[in-house]
Amino acid sequence: MSNKIRVIVAGAGGRMGKEVVKLVLQDDALELAAAVDRSPQEQDAGRLAGLPDAGIVVSEDLEEALASSTADVLVDFTTPQSAYRNTALAIKYGVRPVIGTTGFTPEQIAELDKQCLDQGIGGLIAPNFSIGVILMMKFAAQAAKYFPHLEIIEYHGDQKLDAPSGTAIKTAELISEARQELRQGNPQEEETIEGARGGYYNGFRIHSVRLPGVFAQQEVIFGGFGQSLKIRADSYERAGYMPGVKLGIQKVMEYTGMIYGFEHFIE
Ligand code: NAD
Repeated sequence: MSNKIRVIVAGAGGRMGKEVVKLVLQDDALELAAAVDRSPQEQDAGRLAGLPDAGIVVSEDLEEALASSTADVLVDFTTPQSAYRNTALAIKYGVRPVIGTTGFTPEQIAELDKQCLDQGIGGLIAPNFSIGVILMMKFAAQAAKYFPHLEIIEYHGDQKLDAPSGTAIKTAELISEARQELRQGNPQEEETIEGARGGYYNGFRIHSVRLPGVFAQQEVIFGGFGQSLKIRADSYERAGYMPGVKLGIQKVMEYTGMIYGFEHFIE
């Protein structure tokens, strides 16, 4: 009997899902149990991901895949509308969810935690799987103890709908927990062009740059007397999330209950 971790990929036809299929097919410790996507693909999952045929056709029905395969883990990169149901279904079948889809509410996470505990399995919901981004946030929070004057600048593609990014907000929250309360800058400061100083958060500023060709970058700049410090993470492509997804798949086999946030695995 193989001791590979058997993985179902939901959203296998999407941009992240294809990367996950590639990861699972190319990693000796993992095995593709099934690949599911809402839009009927009727295609081999390997070929869809740009690899040779894997002998697994992308199917439409996640529940059938969960019931008929002996999978260990479901990896879901679908849509906020689908991911809660997919996660609950996986738990019902005793398959450990590793969820990259964003948009879960705290109430949903609490409910899914209860379901995982009832089933005696582990689960992970991680809005960001980039190890570099998680470290950037942790280092920024650490630096804020010594450098309370800072600004966050984040860069994304020009079609992104929300500003600032979820990562910038999460970074700001972590910094605020570590930093002494302080309203930066000159109290008499005035903007002659609205928005010039960026968004205000707990005494410091967040700036969102939106340009075509940019994928995802963020820097936190700290200023002190006679010195400055910059902490910056650059993501260039979706493959950069895959080492984190693999670590999530392995970790979720080791505990019970739902963990929210990949930072819990990065010491
Ligand atoms: P995408 O639109 O390219 O892919 C989503 C895929 O899911 C589509 O192929 C769609 O047909 C499929 N799908 C939708 N509902 C489904 C269902 N019920 N069952 C099976 N398949 C279904 O999107 P994407 O860029 O791959 O992003 C997917 C999600 O991942 C988004 O929520 C995005 O914000 C998130 N994301 C997370 C991270 C992270 O590090 N956690 C990184 C990038 C993107």
